[in-house]
Amino acid sequence: MARLIIMGPPGSGKGTQAEHLARHFGIPAISTGDLFRAHVRDKTDLGLEAGGFMDRGEFVPDHVTTDMLKQRMEDADAAQGFLLDGYPRTVIQIGALDEMLAGRGQPLDVVLALMASDSELLARMLRRAQEQGRSDDTEAVIQRRLALYRDETEPVLTAYSKRGILLSVDGSGDREAITASAIAAVEGALAG
Ligand code: AMP
Repeated sequence: MARLIIMGPPGSGKGTQAEHLARHFGIPAISTGDLFRAHVRDKTDLGLEAGGFMDRGEFVPDHVTTDMLKQRMEDADAAQGFLLDGYPRTVIQIGALDEMLAGRGQPLDVVLALMASDSELLARMLRRAQEQGRSDDTEAVIQRRLALYRDETEPVLTAYSKRGILLSVDGSGDREAITASAIAAVEGALAG
């Protein structure tokens, strides 16, 4: 079973693509953003701690995020394969994930990166703000999240590229066409 990561700037549609890819490959899509939003909604201690960071467009501290992910990864459905969405987002988190997977004897297969232009990203996020009413989708917060992606998360892409497991897919345009090319790219890499 496949062990995948999907990456892409905020607004790149990675959450939607993650769900389609996970269904295709028969693995759970594990989104740290969704896990945090569930905690915020349920008003857990973790949710209270994370919510403030999220509303400001900041990252939740690495150790908080990593502990939450570790717990989720222990669920039975993630035992053999998974698609991570939104983790790792920092170089420190790469190391934490490496450690987690080394303990399980499970190397990563593919890191898929969705690429899109800044203007398309901003437009999509502002649209999502209206549709979903997410509290972290105001313009100032969006700009902060895009800047953090550039400063903290692009180095993650570089690191995986050096390992030779990064695949980039054009994330602009039709949702179904993007899903199809992402599936083809991942299947090619898994077969090759
Ligand atoms: P997302 O839905 O992936 O855009 O995540 C929403 C928010 O959750 C982010 O803006 C962060 O505040 C927080 N978050 C999600 N994943 C991480 C992570 N790996 N590290 C730190 N913060 C995260």
